[in-house]
Amino acid sequence: METSKLHAVILCSPGIGHFNPILELANTLILHHGFKVTILTATTPPAYQFLHSPEDLNIVTLPPADISGVIDANASLFTKIAVEMRQSRSNIRLALSEMDRTRTLFIADLFGTESFELADEFRMPKYVFFPSTAWFLSLTSYCQVLDKEVEGQFVDRTEPLWIPGCKPVRPEDVVDPMLDRRDQQYMEYVRMGIGFGLSDGILLNTWEDLEHGTLEALRKNEELSSLVKAPVYAIGPLKGSCRADGCDRARDSTLTWLDRQPRESVLYVSFGSGGTMSADQVTELAWGLELSGRRFLWKVRPPVEGGQADAAFFTGGSGEGDTAEEILGKFLPHGFLTRTCNVGMVITRWAHQVEILSHPSIGGFMSHCGWNSTLEGITKSLPMIAWPLYAEQRMNAAFLTDEAGVAVRSKELLALKKRDEIKNMVGSVMEENNPMRKRAQEIQESAMKAIEVGGSSHKALNLFIQDCMSKLQ
Ligand code: UDP
Repeated sequence: METSKLHAVILCSPGIGHFNPILELANTLILHHGFKVTILTATTPPAYQFLHSPEDLNIVTLPPADISGVIDANASLFTKIAVEMRQSRSNIRLALSEMDRTRTLFIADLFGTESFELADEFRMPKYVFFPSTAWFLSLTSYCQVLDKEVEGQFVDRTEPLWIPGCKPVRPEDVVDPMLDRRDQQYMEYVRMGIGFGLSDGILLNTWEDLEHGTLEALRKNEELSSLVKAPVYAIGPLKGSCRADGCDRARDSTLTWLDRQPRESVLYVSFGSGGTMSADQVTELAWGLELSGRRFLWKVRPPVEGGQADAAFFTGGSGEGDTAEEILGKFLPHGFLTRTCNVGMVITRWAHQVEILSHPSIGGFMSHCGWNSTLEGITKSLPMIAWPLYAEQRMNAAFLTDEAGVAVRSKELLALKKRDEIKNMVGSVMEENNPMRKRAQEIQESAMKAIEVGGSSHKALNLFIQDCMSKLQ
């Protein structure tokens, strides 16, 4: 009988938002299921203190692929990532050919399915890791049909986009690559959905109770499941629980500041690893926070003109220093820092987000609704202000407000959000006994149940492992 450990090779596309949940998946497979894991990553891994010996967790950084000759300099973020992953195939092939592939399976994240041909070549079962919602997966898989059936731009429609068995998607909430069908990213997105259908299974960072109807549709709706083809395993929430990213609790000024604030009194404001805003929007946000009179901890990024909301995705875009007054002085309203110094803290550097959200004095979260941030917020029972910027974040915001009932959202989808509306949203989320807080608590409890031994996500992961073992015999 074969006794060596199962080995998962996980391919990770650029972006901290892609790397973090893959690291959580690796941790779960190693700690609870006795795997060895190799992460092949196109992101320079953050300086986390990894919890495992190098024999169990091996992180291989792929050399950057030269995409300059095959891509327009103004290409969208989505296109850049898709092309980089395609152009990385020879490096991925080399890395696979050099490793011990005994009892090895291949997991690619959503941008990596074009490397399935390599998994076939090396005779490895191949799975997708989709780090987001079942709803986003269903749109992605169904887009190949919408592509044939819908004429004109999706955003010009007045009717929602229908996905069999699932909640429809309002045209204004479609994912970025569907905003303009003439752009290369649209074809990349259609291709991504088709690629999922080539896998042996799809792992999702969600759980049964949160998205039961959509998960059922992905499995049982004839039209949708015939596109997805493979079993769907809801194994989430994989959330930032064990990222010891060099956080020295006693010396981290955000945490020591939070220690001095009353329980559930502080709104944490952050727009992910790369979200940026215009100067006018930063000004309105600053005024909205100040006028609300509430306490806040704001991870701010210098504004970007031209409205490119994902401008800092590859760089993080932070300034240095704790408060970096000289950076902030250039774009925050005159006197803002002085007037709010008793209730607010503003930082520009990378924040220890998971530790911050876990702090008892945090009472609400203003977020761009990246799925990792969303999970990190709702698993701490935090009501949210949903402020989507790019990617699938508008769908996530719609889910949080309309379905989960844990968030408020601005009426302004694309136009400038004004200070009075921001002030009101902050007030309603930070209200002590608001129904969103209760609902967030219920979701937090259902998440914990899903991942405990015998819970739905725990069972799903076991089913996935059984499937791997049967294919590797
Ligand atoms: N993050 C962090 N510190 C920061 C900004 C972001 O730790 O200052 C982490 C955050 O906790 C989350 C990830 O970066 O795990 C961002 O992923 P998400 O899906 O929320 O959004 P993205 O950045 O991919 O748009």
